[in-house]
Amino acid sequence: MPVSTVAYNCPACGAPLAYQGGKLVCAACGNQYDLDVIEAMQVADGGGVAFAAPEETFTDGDAQQMQAYICQGCGAELMTEDTTTATECPYCGSPTILPERIEGGVRPEYVVPFVVTKEQAQQQFTEYFKGKKLMPNVFLDGRNRISEMRRLFVPYWLFDCEARADIVYDAQKRQVRREGDWEVTYTDHYIVRRGGTMGFDAIPVDGSEKLDNAITESLEPYDLSAAVPFEPAVLAGALADHADVDAAACEARAAQRVENSIAQAMRSTVTGYTNVMERGRNIRAEGGRVTPVLMPVWLITTEKEGKTYTFAINGQTGKLTCDVPADTGKSLLWGFGTFAGVFALCAAILYAMAMMESGTLLIAGIIALVAAFIVVGGLTAQLRQAAHQSAAADYVRSGSFSLDVRYDRFLYQNVQRRRIEQPNQKR
Ligand SMILES: [Zn+2]
Ligand SMILES: [Zn+2]
Repeated sequence: MPVSTVAYNCPACGAPLAYQGGKLVCAACGNQYDLDVIEAMQVADGGGVAFAAPEETFTDGDAQQMQAYICQGCGAELMTEDTTTATECPYCGSPTILPERIEGGVRPEYVVPFVVTKEQAQQQFTEYFKGKKLMPNVFLDGRNRISEMRRLFVPYWLFDCEARADIVYDAQKRQVRREGDWEVTYTDHYIVRRGGTMGFDAIPVDGSEKLDNAITESLEPYDLSAAVPFEPAVLAGALADHADVDAAACEARAAQRVENSIAQAMRSTVTGYTNVMERGRNIRAEGGRVTPVLMPVWLITTEKEGKTYTFAINGQTGKLTCDVPADTGKSLLWGFGTFAGVFALCAAILYAMAMMESGTLLIAGIIALVAAFIVVGGLTAQLRQAAHQSAAADYVRSGSFSLDVRYDRFLYQNVQRRRIEQPNQKR
C-alpha cells in the first residue's frame, strides 16, 4: 500500500504520522492508529448538487393560442390564453399592460389548477385582518382592495434528484471521575463516518423575481397529484408569470435544501456521544432534473414608502402568507399605553399597601416596561407569516433514506487531572 506517499497528520497533536509495523504511529505523542481509521477521516473533494435544465420551449401552436403582456408599472412579463382579457397587472395593479408576442421561453410541463374560489380567498384575508392591532393603516385601507384580489399562476421549478452524502465527524465521549484528591476527565476521541443516499421529489423553488422566496416558500406545500399537463386553455381567466429568475439561482436554492436535509438525516444517526462536530462532507447528486410548473396564487399587493408588500394565498390549499411590518406609531402607542396602565396599577397597589417608596416605584417601572415589551412583541409576532424553509424534508421520497456507511472507531484518549480543593484546607 503506497502509504508513504500520502502525508497524514496525527489527529491528537497534528504531528506527521509514520507507517510502522502495520500501524500509523505518532512520534510526538505516542498514539498509534490503524490505517483504515485514518483513511476514514478523509473526505473526497468536489461533489455538488446539479440539475439538468428543462429544454422544451413554447410551440408555434401555443403561441397562436396565447397572449403575452408587459406591465408598464412594474415590468412584469405575463401571459394568458388569448380569449382572456387582461385588464391589470396582478403584481402592481397597474392597468397599463401592453400586448407582446410570445417568444421562446420555457414551456411549463404542468399546471396546478385553482381550487380556492375568490370568495373563499376574500374570507381568508378578512379573517387575517381581525385583531391585528399593529397592522399599518395603509393595509387596513387595503381591506377595501380585497375586491381587487388577483389570481396569478406563479412559475416554479421542481427539482428531483438522488443525493449521496459522505460526512465525517469528530465525536467525543467524556467521563469525569473522582480519584482520591483528583478530579479526572477522560475524553475518548472517535472518528465517525456516515455515508448514504436520499431521494428528493419535486422540491419547489419559485421562478418569479417579483415574489420574495420567503412568501412562496411559506405557501408550500402544493399537492402535485392534482396537476394537469400544460396547455394554453388551462390559463383561461388568469395571468401567468414568466419564469424570469435565472435557473442557476433557483438551482442553488434547491441544492441548499437538499444538502441541509441529507446532512440533518445523517447527523441524526450519530448518537451516544457527548460532543459531535462535523469534520468534512461531500454531498453530490445524480439524476438531477428540473420540471417547470405553474402554481395557483391569490395576490393582494400594497405599496408603502416605495416598497411593495404582498399578501398571498395558496390557490389550492387556502394557506395565507404575508410579510407585513408592524406600524411604528401604533407600536409606540401600544407600548406607552401598556407601560402607563401597568405602572398606574402597580402604583395603586403600592399606595393601598402603604409601600410607595422610590425603590418600590422603580420595580413597578421595570415590571411595566417588561409588560410593554411583551405586549408589543406579541402583537408584532401576529403579523409575521412568511418564513424561508431551510430544508427539504417534505420532499424526501418516502423510504428513500438509506445508510450504507456506518463507521464509529476509537482514536485516542485525553486525560486531564485537576486537584480538588479541600474546603478546610490550610494554606
Ligand atoms: Zn500525535
Ligand atoms: Zn405590474
